[in-house]
Amino acid sequence: MNASTLSEIASLWNRVLNELSKQINDSRIFDVFFKDTYIYSIDGKEMIVACDSSLVTTILHDKYQDLVTPTVDSLTGTNFDVTFVNNNDLKNKTSTYIIVDNKPRYFENSEISPYYTFDNFVVGSSNKEASQASLIVASTPGKLYNPLFIYSQSGLGKTHLLNAIGNYIKETNPTLKVLYCSSQTFFEEYQQSIHNQKDSDDFREYIKSFDVLLIDDIQFFQNKKSTEEFFFNIFEHMKANNKQLVLTSDRSPSELKELDPRLQTRFASGLQISILKPTTEMCEDILKKKIEGSGLAISMFDDDVLFLLADKFRNSIRDLEGALNRLLFYANMNHADHITMDIAVDALQSLIDFGDSKSKVSAQKILNVVASYYNLSVSQITGKIKTFQIVNSLHISIYLIHNLLDVSLKQICEIFSNRDHTTIMHSIEKVEEMLKDDKQTKTVIDELKKRISA
Ligand code: ADP
Ligand code: MG
Repeated sequence: MNASTLSEIASLWNRVLNELSKQINDSRIFDVFFKDTYIYSIDGKEMIVACDSSLVTTILHDKYQDLVTPTVDSLTGTNFDVTFVNNNDLKNKTSTYIIVDNKPRYFENSEISPYYTFDNFVVGSSNKEASQASLIVASTPGKLYNPLFIYSQSGLGKTHLLNAIGNYIKETNPTLKVLYCSSQTFFEEYQQSIHNQKDSDDFREYIKSFDVLLIDDIQFFQNKKSTEEFFFNIFEHMKANNKQLVLTSDRSPSELKELDPRLQTRFASGLQISILKPTTEMCEDILKKKIEGSGLAISMFDDDVLFLLADKFRNSIRDLEGALNRLLFYANMNHADHITMDIAVDALQSLIDFGDSKSKVSAQKILNVVASYYNLSVSQITGKIKTFQIVNSLHISIYLIHNLLDVSLKQICEIFSNRDHTTIMHSIEKVEEMLKDDKQTKTVIDELKKRISA
């Protein structure tokens, strides 16, 4: 047995005890029965936990087995048979070494983050519905909204809510098995399992053993045929057994154009909720919560500093946090115990465009965004070869440049290799017509505008 094995086992048991102490409210009971226990051995799925008296052994077996086993399982992702054995009986045994097979073989790095909870999630008009729906699902898993589908642009709290749901369920329903992972990780784990054909069924059974699946950024499933097929089966299984699914994405199910249509309809079949950009006031609340959370006083900041941060970084709470951290770091390095506007401007100069932010949108940016949206290169859009897709993206680029930038038709002609006036006019009119008759076009244009201004 090597040292790392020993310390891994000790640390596993510490985590189990830590979890148990939260669930057993009476600290005296916890101390009397659990404090001196330790993992004596792990052999395959058999875990022997040593207790310091026969009374403790009996009580743990009779009263706490149903608490300990699920806690061990949820921390290891394995189904252990946990047996409590009196220390004295173990001493008579000759073999005291440990055979280690306690590592979960899948999703080893996909733990629910304890830092993302409902308590530290600031609620405002932009995320109220998403936070309420998450709380309802967390308190009645599998019963009401299945799947819950939350979508938004990046940095607005999807991952936070997903983990908050996981933490809440683990706390209030510790016997339920909860898996949190990103769809990218899910895809990779699945690919690995089919690589080794023997393991593929095992993986399926493993996933099915969970009561709650929290899958982040589901948009990555697009164009991954075999994973989509696999996940479709898992989805149907979970739904049929009233097991909760919560999915997040950077767009709504109907906008996941490259997704298997069966999954698209399934994802839309529960409750879909979007998170919008927060208001400046909400960003100020978030900043205050984060400042207090790190043990600092709000009075350390001039009011207009918080307003500046809230106003400039409202597009993404991730960026808002990043800006606050940078400001705190800067203030610390400069030994400033009060943060004035001057300090903030110095610290954040490189992050904030203090000029007119509209000037950042250029024809090049619009072309880049449109090209990446349609999986084309900019030179394809502006080039000579024309497929339906390319013509469409060309019309849309011209329309957006005309619509978003203060440029003349002549300048647009120049951007598009001196195409003539009428071609440019035709493109603009074409999109305007489509916008009138076709909802789909409006969704696309709105999405593109969002991305351009992001
Ligand atoms: P997304 O998954 O939508 O890209 P995240 O959940 O990763 O966004 O959020 C980015 C950061 O902003 C995280 O650190 C998260 O804790 C924080 N955050 C987002 N929304 C809120 C909120 N309403 N209250 C407090 N912190 C938030
Ligand atoms: Mg995320």
